[in-house]
Amino acid sequence: MKFKKFLSIPIISVFSLMGFAYYITIFIFIQDWLGLESSSGFRNALIFSFFAFLSLFSFFVCVIRDPGHVPSSYVPDVEYSPSTDQDSTKSVSHSRRCDKCSSYKPPRAHHCRVCRRCVLRMDHHCLWINNCVGYRNYKGFLTLVLYTTVASIHSMVIVVSSGLQKDFTGRPPLKIFYISCGALMVALSFTLGTLLGWHIYLLAHNLTTIEYYEGKRAAWLARKSGQGYRHPYNVGDYKNITLVCLSLSLSLSHTYTHTNGS
Ligand SMILES: [Zn+2]
Ligand SMILES: [Zn+2]
Repeated sequence: MKFKKFLSIPIISVFSLMGFAYYITIFIFIQDWLGLESSSGFRNALIFSFFAFLSLFSFFVCVIRDPGHVPSSYVPDVEYSPSTDQDSTKSVSHSRRCDKCSSYKPPRAHHCRVCRRCVLRMDHHCLWINNCVGYRNYKGFLTLVLYTTVASIHSMVIVVSSGLQKDFTGRPPLKIFYISCGALMVALSFTLGTLLGWHIYLLAHNLTTIEYYEGKRAAWLARKSGQGYRHPYNVGDYKNITLVCLSLSLSLSHTYTHTNGS
């Protein structure tokens, strides 16, 4: 039952934080600063609600959608050689089968210890969505980070603007509440913005988080032996972005043909 996944403390915490941020932004800060009856107040509430809805929808997609398991019919192509790159050739020849779950392991698949199975194009296991981020839900994860960043920056601007025009004379508890909410939204915007920047970097280099750290080690080993290292799936910024954004929804075999044929 997929909905059982929602019964986890991190997911309940995310829902609570989303609900709290939505409530205070609309019914306290927009109401206090512009008034929900005014056209600018209504417009702000509508735009914020739009991004909040998209964030919630992407969150559901990330939690419910299977990140991509290895199909039982998958058999590695013995004729296939990904490239002349030493590291990728080595990694394929040594990892045809996962030694933990015994399934065939296509290129870029990794075994997740939490999910106890191999995940295609695994990026990382995310506690906050109680799921792996992989081949089938990576786009959902990217849109989740994008929409929540936009929504939290919008909320931060509203909270700060509302606080700046407020007269707190003789009302210290109210001042503390405003400062706390402002600090929360600044911290949230900064954290989500950093995460968004990180995934744009990975996207532009056609890397997953796991591959980034593996690549750092491979580059260090290559340097030690006087050789160069290049990520085998990096086909240039524009192609990388279109490949990840457009190809992730295609079939497994088609994606691998694209990736390795480039
Ligand atoms: Zn495995
Ligand atoms: Zn996992």
